[in-house]
Amino acid sequence: MAQLKLRYYPDPVLKQKAKKITIVDGSVRKLAQDMLDTMYKSDGVGLAAPQIGVSKRLMVIDVSSEDEPAKPIVFINPEIIEQDGEMVGQEGCLSFPDVFFEVKRYSRVVVRFQNLKGQTLKLTAENNLLCRAIQHEIDHLDGQLFIEKAVSQLKCDLEMTKAGLIDGDADALSRELSQQSSQVAAATEGETIKLKSDKKEHILK
Ligand SMILES: [Zn+2]
Repeated sequence: MAQLKLRYYPDPVLKQKAKKITIVDGSVRKLAQDMLDTMYKSDGVGLAAPQIGVSKRLMVIDVSSEDEPAKPIVFINPEIIEQDGEMVGQEGCLSFPDVFFEVKRYSRVVVRFQNLKGQTLKLTAENNLLCRAIQHEIDHLDGQLFIEKAVSQLKCDLEMTKAGLIDGDADALSRELSQQSSQVAAATEGETIKLKSDKKEHILK
């Protein structure tokens, strides 16, 4: 059992587009096993190779709960071949400790990938954590991070500031966010909202 070193934001490897795996050999199988060990040790549900500093199209996911037997899935060269609908839910990322916010994703995806035997498989995931995890991890292989897909940029900035990943004034962001939520609440009650021009940008994002 080997635990690999996790790469954290803003490590440049996280922004690189990962390379296709051409041969599924013993080294890929070992890497996948080490990634699973690392993911379980870190209490994650998914891990992509760039997150341990390897820019290859390999990712692992296990969405089983603690009282269930482990159900690891290894995806080699995964590709989404069908996608539709939408769902919004909370996401975190092992490369962003203590950062959580809502992200919008497709509610149904069909993914084609190779397994550790080199066989090509197709998997459909709909309205569940697996569906969300597949999209989050494939984004990692394309150098895309969940901070680029936050439903509320303000909430994302606040979480990033609190975690010490970006510079900012957490108290000011917090105040702005609560002001925004009360304006949104007022709007849903059918009242007219008057926005200060400097707040407009955040509301419209
Ligand atoms: Zn992630």
